[in-house]
Amino acid sequence: MMPENLIRLSKSVIGPEEKNAVIKVLDNGRLGMGSEVKKFEDLLSKFFDRPALCCVNGTAALHLSLQASGVGFNDEVLVQSLTYLATFQAISACGAKPVPCDVNKDTLTLDLNDASKKLTNRTKAVVPVHFAGDPGKLHEIYEFASSNGLRVIEDSAHAFGTKYNNQTIGSFGDISCFSFDGIKNITSGEGGCIVSDDMELIRLIKDARLLGIINDTNNRFSGKRSWNFDVSTQGWRYHMSDIMAAIGIQQLNKIDYFSRKRQDLAKKYDELLSFSNQISSFKRNYTSIVPHIYSIILPKTTKRDLLREKLYSLGIETGIHYLPNHKLSYYQNPRLGNLLNTEEIAPRLLSLPLHPDLNEEDLEFVVRSLIENL
Ligand SMILES: *Cc1c(COP(=O)(O)O)cnc(C)c1O
Repeated sequence: MMPENLIRLSKSVIGPEEKNAVIKVLDNGRLGMGSEVKKFEDLLSKFFDRPALCCVNGTAALHLSLQASGVGFNDEVLVQSLTYLATFQAISACGAKPVPCDVNKDTLTLDLNDASKKLTNRTKAVVPVHFAGDPGKLHEIYEFASSNGLRVIEDSAHAFGTKYNNQTIGSFGDISCFSFDGIKNITSGEGGCIVSDDMELIRLIKDARLLGIINDTNNRFSGKRSWNFDVSTQGWRYHMSDIMAAIGIQQLNKIDYFSRKRQDLAKKYDELLSFSNQISSFKRNYTSIVPHIYSIILPKTTKRDLLREKLYSLGIETGIHYLPNHKLSYYQNPRLGNLLNTEEIAPRLLSLPLHPDLNEEDLEFVVRSLIENL
């Protein structure tokens, strides 16, 4: 049974603005990809100051970006094992092999030492994951990629609104992929976007998201579609709908409030947890980083499942980010060796509730309950 007044791990924070915007689209009777998607794309392009394309979810954003980067059958892609399954599935969807790498202990971002050991002549790209919104030392990833001729596809699903060296994630670099699923920093119900200033890549993705139909996007934006067309590549039904875009537009309006709220809550967690010598949290700069999740490392002796059950019975939902992907049957590789940090930290990670509808008292209750039940 779900406890009453459950403090949820994450949630969509939706107001009358989103509801009214959706009703307008419904009343208009055009629910597919049309003028709302164009408007959302224009607003995103302004936000990032470079071209942005919307698609059906963050996984599709990664898949489209990898495909348009030329990642294909038997190619290898370096990626941290500690990420959402979606990152791995997007790579294998291209017929390519995700090569699971270790993470840095302090940020849970890609460990370049380990990644460089796993370079082969089949390596085509590297996919850094901005874990919890933290880009780690992103410039080092770009140096590594450029000296090895790799594309960089940033999995920025956690990092909408985060700044790195005073620049918004997505506003610089090779390719950045965002997710707008229901629990991300902003949502469009489901949804995602790709940001890049590589115009050839943008052109390829524009077509690939609409079954590969050449130049269909502009027709869709003006309420038409192509009846007489050609196709020159494999495409997908990965476009965004106007219903989703209508939600996304309203959420984007609220990004400053959402970001500030997440940052303040994370700072509050830091402060509350600083009194515990059993729990470690990550030292992140929440002035520039907008946290998507708040993870802690539990003491070695804590039984995580029991703790989670106990907290749930007290009305606190927690999460596990993530099961390392190299442990999954589909991605196992006996030649891989050990991912030392991942294996040491992953079983002890626990994510605490974090979303803009929480307040300081909620966090005090969470931390008190946590410490009493370690
Ligand atoms: C959410 C997420 C994705 C995928 O996004 P969806 O919109 O859910 O498909 C990819 N990578 C990470 C790290 C995510 O958290």
